[in-house]
Amino acid sequence: MIPYGKQDINQADIAAVVAVLQSDFLTQGPQVPLFEQALAKTVQAQYGVAVNSATSALHIACLALGLGKGDCLWTSPNTFVASANCARYCQAKVDFVDIDPRTYNMCPDALHVKLIDAQRHNTLPKIVMPVHFAGQPCDMQRIHALAQEYGFKIIEDASHAIGATYHNLPVGACQYSDITVFSFHPVKIITSAEGGMAMCNDVQLAEQMRLLRSHGVTHVPAQLDSPHTGEWYYEQVTLGLNYRMIELQAALGLSQLQRLPVFLAQRQHLRQRYDCLLKDLPLQLPVADSMTTSANHLYPIQLNALEQDSSLSRQPSRKAIFDRLRAQGIGVHVHYIPVHTQPYYQTLGFAYGDYPQSEHYYQHALSLPLYHGMTEQQQDQVIEELADVLMVCA
Ligand SMILES: *Cc1c(COP(=O)(O)O)cnc(C)c1O
Repeated sequence: MIPYGKQDINQADIAAVVAVLQSDFLTQGPQVPLFEQALAKTVQAQYGVAVNSATSALHIACLALGLGKGDCLWTSPNTFVASANCARYCQAKVDFVDIDPRTYNMCPDALHVKLIDAQRHNTLPKIVMPVHFAGQPCDMQRIHALAQEYGFKIIEDASHAIGATYHNLPVGACQYSDITVFSFHPVKIITSAEGGMAMCNDVQLAEQMRLLRSHGVTHVPAQLDSPHTGEWYYEQVTLGLNYRMIELQAALGLSQLQRLPVFLAQRQHLRQRYDCLLKDLPLQLPVADSMTTSANHLYPIQLNALEQDSSLSRQPSRKAIFDRLRAQGIGVHVHYIPVHTQPYYQTLGFAYGDYPQSEHYYQHALSLPLYHGMTEQQQDQVIEELADVLMVCA
C-alpha cells in the first residue's frame, strides 16, 4: 500500500534520540529550548513554546489570549476537529466561517459578512483561527485587516504549513497574527512523534504559555536569607496543565528540522509532477496563490466528474473511486469531514447545510499520496490507477 502520508526517519534522527536516552535528562533538559530556538529562528518568530501536541498548543494559545466562558472562537469547518475543540476546552463557544471553493481555506468575504452580522447582534468572536489547509497559506492580510476593524485575536493553525511562506515571510513569523501553531505528528511535514509548538512575538504571551504548559508553576528565585524559601521553593500562580514536550521528542524534532528544506523540496517536486500529469483529467487541482508558497502537506483534488447528474449510474461515486483505489494499493484519504457535521458539534446545534461550500468540497474531495519518501514510480502508479478508475467509471 502506498500511504497518503508517512514520516521519514534516518540514522541521524535515531542517533539524536539515542543520545538523549543515554544522557541525564529524559524530560526537561537542553533539547527542548534548543528546538524552540531553532524553529523560532527558521520561521522568524521571537519565541517558540514547545508542547506535547499541536492540540495542546492550540489550547494554551487560547488560554493565553484569555478565551473563556461567554467568549467565541471562529474557525474553518474544513479542518481537523482539534482546531475547534481547543475553544471547547476553555468553555468557549465555537462557530465556523465557510471556505473559499478555490483555496479550501477560510473565505475572507464570508468572514467579513459574518462579522458585520455579529457586530449587530453583539456576538463578535474573541479569536479567529484560520487554518492553512494542505499547507496553502490563508489570506492573512485581509483577515488581519478585519481583526484591526473588529477587535479579535488571531491564532494560525499552521499544522500543515511548516515551511510555507506568505508575502516573502515564513508562516510562523506571526506578522499578521498573535500566535501560530505547528504540529509534529508523524503524518505532518516534520515529526517529533507527538508534539507541537506555539510561535509568537510577545514575551508576555510566551511566558504565559510556558506557565500553562507546566502546572502554572514558577521557580521563583529563592531569597536565601528568608527562612521560608530556599532551593526547594516554587510557586503555583495559576491553574496550568502538564503539556510539556520531552527531551526525546525535542531531539527528534530538532534533527528533523535540519531536514525540512529537503522534505519541502521533494514535496514541491511531487506536487509539480501531479499538477502536470493530472491536468487533463476531470479534476480540480489545488491552486497556488501568488505571493505564497505552500508546504504541500496534502495534495487534495476535487472529482469534477461527480458534478454531473449522479442519478446516471455510470457516474462513479466518490466512494466507488476511493474503494477502488484502496483495493489497488493506493492509500488515498479524504480531508476533511466538515467539523460542524460531527455528531458532537451537531449536539451543539450545528447541522448539515450550515456551511455549503465546505460540504460540497468534502463530497468531492480526495487526497492523493504525498510524502518525502515517495518515489516517482510510486507517483506514476497513483496517477495511472486514478486515470484508470476515472476512465472505467466515466
Ligand atoms: C494534525 C492537526 C492538528 C492536531 O495536531 P496534533 O499534533 O496531532 O495535536 C490540529 N489542526 C490541524 C489542522 C491538524 O492537521
